[in-house]
Amino acid sequence: MSGGVAHAPAGGADCAPVLRERGQREVFCGLTGIVWLHRKMQDAFFLVVGSRTCAHLLQSAAGVMIFAEPRFATAIIEERDLAGMADCHDELDRVVTRLLERRPEIRTLFLVGSCPSEVIKLDLAKAAQRLGTQYAPQVRILNYSGSGIETTFTEGEDACLAALVPEMSALPAGSPTELLVVGALPDIVEDQFMRLFAELGVERVGVLPARRACDLPPVGPDTLFLIAQPFLTETAMALENRGARHLEALLPFGAEGTTDWLRAAAHAFGVDDMHFNRVIAPGRERAKRAIAHSREKLEGKRITFLPDSQLEVPLARFLATELGMVPVEVGTPYLNRRLVGRELALLPAETRISEGQHVDRQLDRVRADRPDLTVCGLGLANPLESEGLSTKWAIELVFSPIHGFEQAGDLAELFARPLRRRDVLRV
Ligand code: SF4
Repeated sequence: MSGGVAHAPAGGADCAPVLRERGQREVFCGLTGIVWLHRKMQDAFFLVVGSRTCAHLLQSAAGVMIFAEPRFATAIIEERDLAGMADCHDELDRVVTRLLERRPEIRTLFLVGSCPSEVIKLDLAKAAQRLGTQYAPQVRILNYSGSGIETTFTEGEDACLAALVPEMSALPAGSPTELLVVGALPDIVEDQFMRLFAELGVERVGVLPARRACDLPPVGPDTLFLIAQPFLTETAMALENRGARHLEALLPFGAEGTTDWLRAAAHAFGVDDMHFNRVIAPGRERAKRAIAHSREKLEGKRITFLPDSQLEVPLARFLATELGMVPVEVGTPYLNRRLVGRELALLPAETRISEGQHVDRQLDRVRADRPDLTVCGLGLANPLESEGLSTKWAIELVFSPIHGFEQAGDLAELFARPLRRRDVLRV
């Protein structure tokens, strides 16, 4: 394990040294993404090829599914020697056949890899190809890894969306330019953005992931894409390899982030500034008013983010620029300057930026800094609370609708609430 300091280009916290840490990660694995992805993709099914631990993680993370016909399951692979691997493939084929016979509505089946050594030995790409040929064109069978060895928490979504990119049909050269919004957003938030794009006059808009397999949008050199989640590094690269171009923008968090994100699309599609301002003004004003409610509680308060979801940098930017909070340390599992470079430039230059995790050193720094609020994983929150430090569970930020104008007030409130609770407990 080692820590090191590398210097970044000038501008905002871009001038700050980045503390790079290489230790054990205290975050969920990429399987967790299934919890929100299965809600988004309504005719997809996620078959985790894993152990009982994986099954428990999914069941406890998505316990609500007892109310509905589930759209994920775990095929449990018990320990066996290499000679038994052929049986493993047969068993997987049997499970898939049974599943698809029983659930004819499934249009996309993801075989999701995990970390047990038996699963690592199993070639899921080959299995997906073999089964995909058998069930095409009714069912698309794809694979990706959600293993805790290869992926942290939100990287599962990145791996899943990257697996979908080769399935997107080719947008013929010379087609009218299309906008692609990339990242799983709650339906209500996606609908709000679609209404705004329509009002702006940007008519050809696709989303990845699409709600239904038949709506998977095409992609090509006439596709411009906006990233709605900062953790989609592989997906962005896969889209660029298909010729699509990334529109650089802030992430759509808060009044300013959302305005910047929408403006990037508006400029690219030639929407004039007056029309743009007229369309977004009501939402932007509502967002500002809603945020103001939490400002009194948050202004001047010091905040530390421990690395968890990769949402840390854009959220710190939102809290610093729109609520007057003071980011002390902003830790993130990976720092992709291409996707969050503009966000970094807006953080105060003295913000300590860290990439990767060394949990003991990070906790030592939190204890020395004593921020007013620490955003961290579930496992670290209780020990910090017992030391009198207020915490916010990072996972709530992933599971709550936080993008766009209409959610800006709720997003601010998610940070204000733990501070209010602390004040009440003190009285
Ligand atoms: S994929 Fe690995 S880290 Fe994730 S639940 Fe399964 S065993 Fe645990």
